[in-house]
Amino acid sequence: MPVNDLSLPPREKIFLADLHIHSRYSRATSKEMTIPTLAKAASAKGLDVIATGDFTHPDYFSELQELLEPAEEGLYVFRELPEGPRFVLSAEVSNIFSQGDKRNRRVHTVILAPSLEVAAEINQALAPLGNLEADGRPVFGFPVKELVKILRHISPEIIVIPAHVWTPWYSLFGAFSGFDSVEECFEEETPFIYALETGLSSDPPMNWRLSALDRFTLVSNSDAHSPGKLGREANAFYRPLSYPAMMKALREDALAFTIEFFPEEGKYHFDGHRSCGVLLAPEETRRHGGRCPVCGEPLTVGVMHRVEELADRPAGFKPPQKPPAVHLVPLIEIVAEALGKGVQTQAVKRTYQQLLELGGKEFDLLLYKDLDEISEKFPARIIEGIRRVREGQLYIRPGFDGVYGKISIFSPEEEDSSSKPRQQSLFGFS
Ligand SMILES: [Zn+2]
Ligand SMILES: [Zn+2]
Repeated sequence: MPVNDLSLPPREKIFLADLHIHSRYSRATSKEMTIPTLAKAASAKGLDVIATGDFTHPDYFSELQELLEPAEEGLYVFRELPEGPRFVLSAEVSNIFSQGDKRNRRVHTVILAPSLEVAAEINQALAPLGNLEADGRPVFGFPVKELVKILRHISPEIIVIPAHVWTPWYSLFGAFSGFDSVEECFEEETPFIYALETGLSSDPPMNWRLSALDRFTLVSNSDAHSPGKLGREANAFYRPLSYPAMMKALREDALAFTIEFFPEEGKYHFDGHRSCGVLLAPEETRRHGGRCPVCGEPLTVGVMHRVEELADRPAGFKPPQKPPAVHLVPLIEIVAEALGKGVQTQAVKRTYQQLLELGGKEFDLLLYKDLDEISEKFPARIIEGIRRVREGQLYIRPGFDGVYGKISIFSPEEEDSSSKPRQQSLFGFS
């Protein structure tokens, strides 16, 4: 279990940025993903910079031009919330192509643009090459390295980041459709790639096991499709706040830290066979010759297995100079565990709202607030939950073969006591 390094720089020295989200113009995305809602939701979370998502979509781009006004260099703000979070122009595109010995390579990339004007030029260049209106995340049929070439000719300030690099489908290292190295994928364009998005299914410690990735800045974003998921992963940059400052930090591997999901929660973290209820670590899969020990069918290989295939270092290795990775559980999930109720229940949602009203922004509560100072105001079990998450004191049953991992902050005996009426009344919230 990773234990968090809590010697973080002071809150006023950093800003938190989530650089990959989607608008309602992307498939399977909430209707609420609009600029006004994003501004409010990011503010409640304590995100200082939030990606617009989907600037390649013509209708959404018109909205961006209408609703955003310039703030610090390269950043924007929602007109009606001038003190609110800053927006950075972002898009995600999907390239599906043949290269080398494989057909059907599928690689997603995140694009960040330094201004609305440059974003407009990108849209102009990409429009003849694919259908930008079909989806907020458009699909192109040419190699992803060509995309890099097109973009860097438009502006050297455009940032291209391979997205969620380990997911089995649609990613740079994906087991089914990817490559074994950054160089194999981007070839002569490799020097223009300097950051990689680790995605929800991997964290920096997993990526530190590949010496080939040492020169890349590892970024973490939410890839949110609904407001509640904003900031489930994020990046802490040193101030001052500006697009050029972000670009410099991404080029020089100079993030303050990243905020991570526990990768064990992902649906394909470990190996296994769902129909037999078999969950295996990669070394166990190898011992069983890749076959389910119950039925003998081939096992579904997960992200950790793929990382180990390409890794040249043992687990636990940390290259010097790499910024810390802080693993968190979203506050609403801590509340749900503390109350012993589902995340979607009214009691949990209400308590979560009250916490934000009393305690401030979510990230300040999770990362920075002195818990002793606020323990009077909050139910003891929630305070204890936050403390355990900070210290990495929790149990996770890893996800496998399409089954999500399950986090437990409290042991079953502790959970039982919460449902007793006397204990329940301590909350005073529900
Ligand atoms: Zn993607
Ligand atoms: Zn995405």
